[in-house]
Amino acid sequence: MGQKEIRLPTTAKGWAVRLSQIIKIANDIHGLARFPVKVSEIARDFTANVYPGAAITAVDGRPLSKNFEGALMPKPGGSGEWGIFYNSAISSPGRINFTLAHELGHYLLHRQLSGDPIYCARRDLWTWDSAYGRMEAEANEFASFLLMPLDDFRQQTDGLRRPSVADFERVKDHYAVSLTAAILKWLDTTSKRAMIVISRYGFIDWSRSSEPLLKSGVYFRAKQETTPLPDASLAALQDTSAEAATGKMLHEGIWSVQEPVFESVLFSEYHDMAISLLIYPDDAPRRPWAVEVSQGFVD
Ligand SMILES: [Zn+2]
Repeated sequence: MGQKEIRLPTTAKGWAVRLSQIIKIANDIHGLARFPVKVSEIARDFTANVYPGAAITAVDGRPLSKNFEGALMPKPGGSGEWGIFYNSAISSPGRINFTLAHELGHYLLHRQLSGDPIYCARRDLWTWDSAYGRMEAEANEFASFLLMPLDDFRQQTDGLRRPSVADFERVKDHYAVSLTAAILKWLDTTSKRAMIVISRYGFIDWSRSSEPLLKSGVYFRAKQETTPLPDASLAALQDTSAEAATGKMLHEGIWSVQEPVFESVLFSEYHDMAISLLIYPDDAPRRPWAVEVSQGFVD
């Protein structure tokens, strides 16, 4: 790195942008594709250069307890080195890559806070909202911007007029991220009224809305409530057809009392879970209705 002192970033986005620039330059020089970003290589090479003596020297799958997706751990013995790990029970390359990026985020942003290992549950990888855990949200923000930089992400998704989970399968493969991460990224950037709903055994586990949908007053009620899926939703019907993945228009009264909703659903990424993507009409009903409760959703 020479003798010139290099200022290092201090925020999640700052780190992601810095690493993206390095990756782009390196790949241009070697004539390599910019995507997908190979986190295992970046993590070793970058930290060896910038933090010799405290570098990441192990990137691997580990038999972690089933609740955990990944972990950041100091190497035992006090060498100062670190390892980033994913649960070796995970077979999806996208989940593995996103988890490693998340752990690299913890390394860059949080390793000095305690020096202890950080274990990350599946739910932590879905925490994109700092209200539920600042460190986890930061690690996800880092992973999101490292693996899916906005300039390219917009190119990949701008043409999607009424996207379905099948569209995000393509986006997911382009970036080698989880399907959930690709959809969450899109929800953060879109002007559409849309929502992801993750459900299990017929009940809604969690959901996240795009800003325009939230602003139009549609959101999911408190997490602690047990909310069944709407009976006629594709997720509840366990529709595993190709058509369900490309989406169907469901009339009003199913997901929303007053609006038809375009639902697409996929069951495969997490064995016991369904991932639904809901697209609401662009124009919200003009007059805000009295608070209506339908299947746990407040319109
Ligand atoms: Zn974490």
